[in-house]
Amino acid sequence: MRIAVDPDLCQGHGVCESEAPDVFAVGKDHMVVVLHPDPPASQRPAVEAAVRFCPTHALSFVDD
Ligand code: SF4
Repeated sequence: MRIAVDPDLCQGHGVCESEAPDVFAVGKDHMVVVLHPDPPASQRPAVEAAVRFCPTHALSFVDD
């Protein structure tokens, strides 16, 4: 399981960074950077919140 970002949808709102700051960062270009595409299980709840609350639905989980 890893995190996928649709760069066409990301608008740099930073909700993901707020929910899971160890996994997501928003750069000066207002584009999210996934710091850990395959985060540890301990981060799963925070990442699920980030996916759920991203206002543009740019984040998703992809099964490997
Ligand atoms: S919350 Fe969504 S739109 Fe905002 S920076 Fe994260 S991925 Fe992009």
